[in-house]
This record gives sequence, structure tokens and C-alpha cells, in this order.
Amino acid sequence: EKPVPSDIVISRSCIPKPIDQLAREVGLLSDEVELYGKTKAKVQLSIMKRLQAQPDGKYVVVTGITPTPLGEGKSTTTIGLVQALGAHMNLNVFACVRQPSQGPTFGIKGGAAGGGYSQVIPMEEFNLHLTGDIHAITAANNLVAAAIDARMFHEATQSDKALYNRLVPLSGGKRAFSEIQIKRLMKLGIDKTDPTSLSEEEITRFARLDIDPGTVTWQRVMDTNDRFLRKITIGQSSTEKGFTREAQFDITVASEIMAVLALTSSLEDMRIRLSKMVVATSRNGEPITTEDLGVSGALTVLMKDAIKPNLMQTLEGTPVFVHAGPFANIAHGNSSILADKIALKLVGPEGFVVTEAGFGADIGMEKFFNIKCRYSGLRPHVVVLVATVRALKMHGGGPTVTAGMPLPKEYVEENLGLLENGCSNLRKQIENAMHFGVPVVVAVNAFKTDTDAELELVCKMAKLAGAFDAVCCRHWAEGGAGALALGKAVQKASEVPSKFKFLYNLELSITDKIRTIAQMIYGADDIELLPEAQHKVELYTKQGFGNLPMCMAKTHLSLSHEADKKGVPTGFILPIRDIRASVGAGFLFPLVGTMPTIPGLPTRPCFYDIDLDPETEQVNGLF
Ligand code: ADP
Repeated sequence: EKPVPSDIVISRSCIPKPIDQLAREVGLLSDEVELYGKTKAKVQLSIMKRLQAQPDGKYVVVTGITPTPLGEGKSTTTIGLVQALGAHMNLNVFACVRQPSQGPTFGIKGGAAGGGYSQVIPMEEFNLHLTGDIHAITAANNLVAAAIDARMFHEATQSDKALYNRLVPLSGGKRAFSEIQIKRLMKLGIDKTDPTSLSEEEITRFARLDIDPGTVTWQRVMDTNDRFLRKITIGQSSTEKGFTREAQFDITVASEIMAVLALTSSLEDMRIRLSKMVVATSRNGEPITTEDLGVSGALTVLMKDAIKPNLMQTLEGTPVFVHAGPFANIAHGNSSILADKIALKLVGPEGFVVTEAGFGADIGMEKFFNIKCRYSGLRPHVVVLVATVRALKMHGGGPTVTAGMPLPKEYVEENLGLLENGCSNLRKQIENAMHFGVPVVVAVNAFKTDTDAELELVCKMAKLAGAFDAVCCRHWAEGGAGALALGKAVQKASEVPSKFKFLYNLELSITDKIRTIAQMIYGADDIELLPEAQHKVELYTKQGFGNLPMCMAKTHLSLSHEADKKGVPTGFILPIRDIRASVGAGFLFPLVGTMPTIPGLPTRPCFYDIDLDPETEQVNGLF
């Protein structure tokens, strides 16, 4: 048996077809495609109109069991499956995956282009800047952050009249409101267009957002695992006159703007969502939005290209949309609705779109159904649940698995006892998927040390737990050919009539929605709202945000809130520390336990291996 070369060596050994050729093959017109070099292109949203009448293809979502910190091969399986369906079963296919965050790429986990012979290529383009969408989100997010603190500073240091005169400056001897200021006047119920006609009381109300600094929920972001930014003090230069404030950075992919990008349905809709984002509360209890700050138009300008899905290809030449971001623990972690919708039209009624929901079924998939499908109106035909022998052994009581360290012997030698024990997690995650009424196909992603007896045991346990089918796949080592059985099982499952349903109704109270997820999906006995969360439940209910779906921020390493509790933890109360509102994206964001919203770097990060060969301009060391 030949060893499988490294991901980047495999990626580089395959010459991708010119992206304009791939675009033509999948039915895109040349003026719908914007080329970014030879291997990447953006697709214009006008295509939605052209293909309006075309029936959608079959919709498949890939999720997984509770993973080890190494990842269990969801991205790899997504790509392996489309290679099988497209290049080996001759069906129209599209994979819809998320753009990797630079955090993990240079941190612990490495890239996210798949692996082995199931990858998106060129993997270095995919894993690094792509077409700049994440950079655009960083820029937009931080413009809002700068606007908030600058506004608080100006309001604190100027009289009402001076503030007003600067907000509505003299130009050519006259003062005039900008369009965004006219919207604010309307919101305040001030029916005037002449800036000189406002009463003193109206001037004050217009000029002062009166943000309560203690209520600012908007954070700065960047896409690097910089743990020292988890808590910072801003405003320490003397030019800020003592207006210091404790603040924090989140990873860019957890920005509300990333969620807006993923959940939006058009440019107009994105414009509205970017204006509705709530950043703080005023001293008299009103939510302060990006529109109040006057920044929503500029945000839309910064995001106008990012909204277009990015076209790339697999090692076997099938099309891929890369759009929106990962981190289903601290974000919703799904690829974009627009990419899925365009792909469903392009593949046509006999074709398949395979989209990926991050981390285990308890978080990425739950959010896929309850948030993403609620906004898109799309109903998936099949859930593919990825399982590995190594993760199941860990759930069965195997020793800790650490990234960058060799696997303990339990994981490389046959051990049916540990494995059978750990299948409890598989059973629970199958159950979690079945709550939504969609057939589940378990994909056992085979590693070279797995024995036939182990792989068969997992398939048997999966079927006993109610999976429609369970198959062993070898797409990492063999490409699409290794996932043919999976392709056929998915095709068969897609013919089962869907009995799709949501887990909860939006009309439930905030607390009941959180409790439903905690009890039904995580297996908690109950939830406990800590004081800050209790306060937010009352605030958001009063402000009218109680009907939004929930986007739980919870560790991905356990069904519970404690990362070291493996298998199926029971007898626990889920602590809800705080809740944030992502009103523009359209969800509330309960923080479970102590979840850092920006990861840190390990002692030996992936960047140690990454370098450029100046002669060939080749990137080395990415995986
Ligand atoms: P996930 O999407 O679930 O986080 P990935 O698909 O990114 O997981 O895979 C995690 C890592 O494991 C990648 O480096 C990938 O190349 C590797 N990997 C996946 N499947 C296999 C396999 N069957 N054998 C060996 N390595 C694999």
C-alpha cells in the first residue's frame, strides 16, 4: 500500500482546470462570473433571478459526532461525497463549504480544505486570503467598533448644540441632513427636513445617542488566535481624555457581520440586516443600532463583494462554493444561504448540493436547522453524520487526544470494548438528527489503523440506533471512488419523503427555547440562568427581540458545557452565563459556561511549519 502524501503535496500535484472553464461547465454565463486569478471566481447574485424557475436539486447536510480536537473529517467527507456523486456517479453536484479562519490555519488545527485525496484546490488559496471576504468582515466590524467609542467620546466632550452643528455641518452656507440622518429623524418621530427648524429638545434627542458604556455588546475582531486580546482596556492615550473602557476582541468569524453574510438572501436584505444590528443600550433603555450610528451604508459598501459566493473546485474537478465562516461553537458556523440556493438551482432537480454544518450535530446541525433553514426556507433531504473510530474510542473512555501529539495506543490498535462503549455518543447524535425528521446516513471515515471489525461494529451500532444506512468510506485515501457506497446511500436516502420539523417554535420564551435545546439536544436536566443572562432575558424580551431563534455558544468537545465530559453526559444543569443579541443576523446568542470567543495559540502552533520557497513561490507546510 502506497502511503498517502501530505495534503499540500496532493493539492499541488493536480492542475486545476481554469476557473472560467468550470464556470461554463456548471452553467454560469460569462457576465455572471468575476475572476479572481485563474482558480477562484465570484458569482454575481443576478443569477438567482435568471434561474428563478429552475427546480432545486437535492439538499444534503454533513455533520458529525462530538469530535476530538483533531476533527473527524467532516470537510474531507463533504468533498469525498461530492467527488463520488459528481465524478463517479455522473450527477450534477456542488459542495458548499465555509472559508477557513486564519486562527486555526496558523494555530492548532490547520486548514479546512478537506484532506488526502478529497480536497478543495488549490488548498493554499483556499486556506489563506481566498478573495478577501474575511478581511472585509474585519474591516466592517471594526468600523462599527470605532464609531461607537468615537461617538461616546464626542457626546461626552461637547455641548448639545456643538454636537449637532458638527453632525449636520454647514455646507455652502446651508445645513442639510444626510439620508441616513433623515431615517433617524423618522425613527425619533421628528417630522422635519430643515435642520434649522428643530427645537432644542429635538436637537438634543437627535444629537445624543446617549449610549450607556456598560451596555456595549459590540466587540472588535480579528482573525488571529491572539488570546491576549480577550480582555483589554481601550482609550489609554491622553488624547482620549481618560475615557478608558474595558473591551475585548472576538475572532472575526464570530462577528455578527459574518452571520449576516451567511444568513442574508440578497443585497437589499443585507443592507437591512447591517442597519438593524444592535450594539448597545441607551441610558433610557433603547437599543442602539448601526443605523443610529450612521454607519450601515458604509458597512454595505465594505461588504458588497463579500456577499458573492466564491467558486473553486475539488481535486476531481467538481464545483465548490466557498462562502461564510466556521466556528459552530461561538458562531452558527454554517456556509451561506446564498451559496446553497445558487448551487441548488445550478445542479437542477436530479443533482445534489452537499453543505457542511460545523462541529458536532449538537451545535452546527442544530443551528443549521433551527436558524439557517428557518431563514432560507430550504428543507434538507439527508443528514450525513460523520463518525470516526478514534473519536468513538475517546467517548468510550480512551485517553485524552491532543493535537500535535502522537495518538495513544488505544487509538491505533483494535479495541472493540472502548469502541462499543463510545457508540453512545453516535447514538445520541443520530437521535439529535432524527428530531428534525430527516433521514440520517452515517459515514464512518476510515483511518488506516482502523480494523474491519471496528468499522463493521460502528455501522452495526449506527443502524441499530435508527440510521437510514451506515457505510464505511475511504475517500481520504482513495478520493471519490472511496465514497461510492456513501454516494449511493445518500442517493437512496434522498428519496425518502421528508417529515421535516423544527425543534422549537419561535413564540416560546427565550428561556424555554434555551431549555428545549439543552434538554432535547444536549441531554441536560435543566438550565440555570446566571444573573447577567437573567437580566438580558428581561431586557431583550422588553426590547422586542424575544421571538428570535437561539445560537448557542457552547464547547464543541462535549455534548455538555464541560469539554472533558465525553460520551453522553447526564445529570447536569447547563449554566447560561450571558446572552448577546445579534438582531441584524437574526438570533440571540446565549453564552454557555466560560467559552472564549477568540482562541489562543498552543506552544507549538502550525505556523512553525509554514514557509515560502522564494524560487518557485510555493507555499510549504500547510495542512
Ligand atoms: P472536520 O471538518 O470534521 O473538522 P477535517 O475534514 O478538516 O475535519 O479533517 C481533520 C483532519 O483529519 C484533516 O487534517 C484531514 O486531512 C485529516 N483526515 C480526515 N480524514 C482522514 C482519514 N480518513 N485518514 C487520515 N486523516 C484524515
